[in-house]
Amino acid sequence: MAIATSLWRRARAVIPGGVNSPVRAWGTVGAGEPFFVRRGEGAYLEDTDGKRYVDWVQSWGPLIFGHSDPEVVEAVQEAAADGTTFGAPTEREVELAEEICAAVPSVEKVRLVSSGTEAAMSAVRLARGFTGRGWILKFAGCYHGHADTLLTDTDAVVCQFNDADAVSAAVERQGEELAGIIVEPVAGNMGVVPPAPGFLEALRDLCDASGALLVFDEVITGFRVARGGAQERYGIRPDLTVLGKIAGGGLPLAAFGGRGEVMDELAPEGPVYQAGTLSGNPLATAAALAVLRRLRDPDIYRQLEETGAALEAGLRHEDVTAQRVGSMLTVFFRSAPVRNVEDARASDLDRYGAFFRHLLAHGVYVAPSQFEALFVSTAHGPSEVERTVEATQEFLAG
Ligand code: PMP
Repeated sequence: MAIATSLWRRARAVIPGGVNSPVRAWGTVGAGEPFFVRRGEGAYLEDTDGKRYVDWVQSWGPLIFGHSDPEVVEAVQEAAADGTTFGAPTEREVELAEEICAAVPSVEKVRLVSSGTEAAMSAVRLARGFTGRGWILKFAGCYHGHADTLLTDTDAVVCQFNDADAVSAAVERQGEELAGIIVEPVAGNMGVVPPAPGFLEALRDLCDASGALLVFDEVITGFRVARGGAQERYGIRPDLTVLGKIAGGGLPLAAFGGRGEVMDELAPEGPVYQAGTLSGNPLATAAALAVLRRLRDPDIYRQLEETGAALEAGLRHEDVTAQRVGSMLTVFFRSAPVRNVEDARASDLDRYGAFFRHLLAHGVYVAPSQFEALFVSTAHGPSEVERTVEATQEFLAG
């Protein structure tokens, strides 16, 4: 415990400003002790005291069909009966790779790993190996897991999200040394902040001009804002894409992929080493296939959009700004729009904390931090929206 605490202090000292860890997030709202979850079903969580909550966190995004989806549970049970890990290829691993390549427009080849952190770290390593350059450009408030360059400012230039002029100036300064630009194409880790018109296009153009690779971290947006992620929704092709959360169907699986010639630099074909004992894990690939194959149905995205829109409409109030892209949404406690993390920080964080506590007391669980998103699943319907809107309007009126 003492070691854990001191490591946490050190880590806190170098986090550029995000409030990305769920553990820290509980601290930001002063919620006291987190409840302990006993089970989840569809849109609901049940705690160890038997209290039920409408769950808009959904494990921070992976559960597009809600908790304990029967098809996922069955697929995992069946797979487990045949063995939990082999460290050797399975057919399902290949089928999943094909499913991802078919869905995500820029991904020609893909590598499976076990967490979003590992996928983002490996994509950056690959960008450095492919370009032979060291510097990375990233955005304040975007989160890409806890690897050094991505969490600290080591060998990284940091710009404000949606500030294409600042990126242009940084690329001019650092262009020859820049291996890549990494971005959440729709930011989710400063709360939901959509890209301003032209911002993602500008990043693409600046990468093309400088020879740096454009890396979209679609750990949240992949299979969520569209089947093909933000790159499908906004029509921009990155060189590399980082996936996690929904891509793993609720089990520990993530992936990174992109242009064939870049991916060919990876070991064993190429010199950029990457490997993982549990990569392509048979339980995780079974869960992922059970989810991703169903996401071929466009009606699912229409339903998510509808539920998201109904929730957004119900949460509107002059004191807050609800920002939504598809099925990810944040209610910012400020009346002006949020374009970057500085704007998000200017929200009334204490009031958000009170909002979180009010909702929790009324059986609605939202992210315990202003700098996170609500995630809509297909298990959420009109009654969950109504209950959430009622509790919110009661809070805002009080
Ligand atoms: N990238 C993004 C955009 C994320 O939101 C997260 C986690 N919230 C990560 C990377 C890291 O993923 P993981 O927690 O699976 O390591």
